[in-house]
Amino acid sequence: MPKPTVQPRIAILGAGPIGLEAALYARALDYPVTVYESGQPAEQVNRWGHVAMFTPFGQNCTTLGLETLLRENPKREFPGDRAGVTGREWRESYLLPLAESPRLKDCLQLQTTVLTIGRTGWRKTDAADTGKPLPPFRLLVRTAQGQERFDTADVILDCTGNYPRPNWAGDAGIPAAGEIASRPQVSYWVDDVLASKKPHYAGKSIILIGGGYSAATTMVNLAALAEEQQSTWVIWLTHADRGGGPLPRVPSDPWKERDKLAAKANNLACRCDGNLEYHPQTHVEELISHGPDKGFRVAGKVLGKPMSWEVDRVIANVGYRADLTICQELRVSEPAGQFATSEPGYYILGMKSHGRKSGFLLAEGFEQIRRTFAAVSGQKTLDLYTRKAA
Ligand SMILES: Cc1cc2nc3c(=O)[nH]c(=O)nc-3n(C[C@H](O)[C@H](O)[C@H](O)COP(=O)(O)OP(=O)(O)OC[C@H]3O[C@@H](n4cnc5c(N)ncnc54)[C@H](O)[C@@H]3O)c2cc1C
Repeated sequence: MPKPTVQPRIAILGAGPIGLEAALYARALDYPVTVYESGQPAEQVNRWGHVAMFTPFGQNCTTLGLETLLRENPKREFPGDRAGVTGREWRESYLLPLAESPRLKDCLQLQTTVLTIGRTGWRKTDAADTGKPLPPFRLLVRTAQGQERFDTADVILDCTGNYPRPNWAGDAGIPAAGEIASRPQVSYWVDDVLASKKPHYAGKSIILIGGGYSAATTMVNLAALAEEQQSTWVIWLTHADRGGGPLPRVPSDPWKERDKLAAKANNLACRCDGNLEYHPQTHVEELISHGPDKGFRVAGKVLGKPMSWEVDRVIANVGYRADLTICQELRVSEPAGQFATSEPGYYILGMKSHGRKSGFLLAEGFEQIRRTFAAVSGQKTLDLYTRKAA
């Protein structure tokens, strides 16, 4: 199909790993592109930067990205394809250089938040089937200086991730009693309990809620902390009871680091030795903070029986969800794995495309980018990732 003469203006929301890769793809195709990032490039990766990634370095990059960096500096060195890296090592060796590269630098607007998006002169309630082309997207944007302005785009790639929007620790997806008021005191993140957050957790009684890989990472690190500082006491609460520990073991898991983490965390749960308690089949019903640094009361049902605890700290690694306030004036519903939406020209890529489902991996995001640009360009077989990096 011949290239359209007027290229669509592309707005990319978020300069996380997927936003940066999407911007690179757009630049390679000569599309006019603007990337809006509310913080710094790969801001969220930096928050969990101490975590060892499941996937080796080579799986966390694209040929397009490596090619771009090598073209600029043929002597640049990267970790090996099979090297295990932490989030921070990946960010520093690959994502930040990409954001700094002349290819992307000019199109990045840092510390610039997209507040909400509509369509010029159009409302969600307007009939969509008039046959007329839809007007362009209208973005309300706020700069670091607090100034607001409107920008226009024809295609939106929403790569804003999920990490800052944690789920609730209560049952049924809703908050536990008291959790709304206690939210500022609870940590919903994968805290670096062995380094920057060590003074906050060492020697404390801690409840950890959650049974996924983030909770497993926190558990393994808390167990190491408890080994080092014997007065630390950890109580792990999970919904699941698989027998053999809370984490699923993926048969022949292609990501060995993920399987090792699951095995370690399950082992800790089953042994329950030292200063660790594990309570499966637990539903948290009450989560009350007594004030900043004054501890918590947590209550719920364990195997159907009421139980409560008084502890110093609560960590709730209970997953994340998509924030849809940006696109609430468009026909976009909560994503659950799909990247195209009911709003023509609006795509949700990356971690956010999974909505509340965990398990997003970068390889899926790179494939979403490829398919999105194949759709936008009208060239079904377009694939800029088939080339090998130099
Ligand atoms: C602890 C942890 C470990 C992981 N390990 C792996 C792994 O080993 N392998 C793997 O493949 N995947 C892994 N993932 C999953 C996934 O690859 C990462 O979460 C990845 O960072 C997702 O990239 P993203 O670009 O979709 O979202 P994010 O990294 O969350 O980036 C979103 C960006 O959008 C910005 N933003 C948000 N809202 C706005 C707005 N309104 N306006 C402008 N900017 C905005 C944010 O500041 C951020 O920079 C891991 C995830 C976590 C949490």
